[in-house]
Amino acid sequence: MNKVALITGSTSGIGLGIATHFAKKGYHIMCHGLETNGPEIAEDISKTYGVDVAFSNANLINANEVTQLVEDTVKKLGRIDVLVNNAGIQYVAPIDEFPNDKYEAIIAINMNASFYASKAAWKYMKKQNFGRIINVSSVHGLRASEYKTAYVTAKHGVIGMTKVLGLEGAPYNITCNAICPGYVRTPLVEKQIPDQAKSHNMSEEEVITNVMLKKQAVKSFVPIESLADMALLLAKETSSTITGSEFVLDGGWTAQ
Ligand code: NAD
Repeated sequence: MNKVALITGSTSGIGLGIATHFAKKGYHIMCHGLETNGPEIAEDISKTYGVDVAFSNANLINANEVTQLVEDTVKKLGRIDVLVNNAGIQYVAPIDEFPNDKYEAIIAINMNASFYASKAAWKYMKKQNFGRIINVSSVHGLRASEYKTAYVTAKHGVIGMTKVLGLEGAPYNITCNAICPGYVRTPLVEKQIPDQAKSHNMSEEEVITNVMLKKQAVKSFVPIESLADMALLLAKETSSTITGSEFVLDGGWTAQ
């Protein structure tokens, strides 16, 4: 195995779970994220699984830094086979109180960065006649919840982008798919509990049971391992006909 995977936002939460899973299977990893202990996380993955791991803290709000992240992956690790567009942020507020800068940041990081990273990776994937792009969208790419204008807009946009790249990649054995998780207990979710409590005028415990997990038939958070397993499946050589689709791990939310 000499395949290289770039996973954005892989110094925390879901991205870290995916990076670890891929390293376990022998992928070399471009570990990326803004957490200050990023370099230590990257080193730890490399030592534990005996694979090459590079690290970048590119700020994905900036298009040029997104492109540079892909170029650095190829420069440091020699190629790029798998791109997981995972980095994301959240902000929760009613529309009339939603700050414009927060809206724009969510659109830039959660949606536009997937475009710039895929575009930059495309030429390498096309040349090697192999590429697997996996976009971490959300159940909110398929359904709405109040107070999440920016997030729901961005995540729906990512699903549309996934379909287009699935079509355009078909002649080159480049696939593009989206993963749509329900609620996963990560720092991103931990951070929104107090805001949700304020917006809904509820206690934090009530937010978890009555708001977050309310729409899931399975009343537990989605395990990160199940998302990482799904990403690994989509990255396989044999998954060449799985493209332009979304894979929903939402505890039955969208079944209703
Ligand atoms: P997290 O907060 O644990 O991790 C997010 C990662 O993105 C971090 O590494 C962070 O440094 C990085 N990041 C944020 N802003 C960045 C920026 N400007 N530039 C570069 N990196 C940046 O969050 P998570 O829950 O693991 O979320 C990962 C993805 O999964 C996100 O796209 C999120 O929308 C999606 N998602 C999460 C859930 C959930 O319940 N946690 C559900 C559905 C979808």
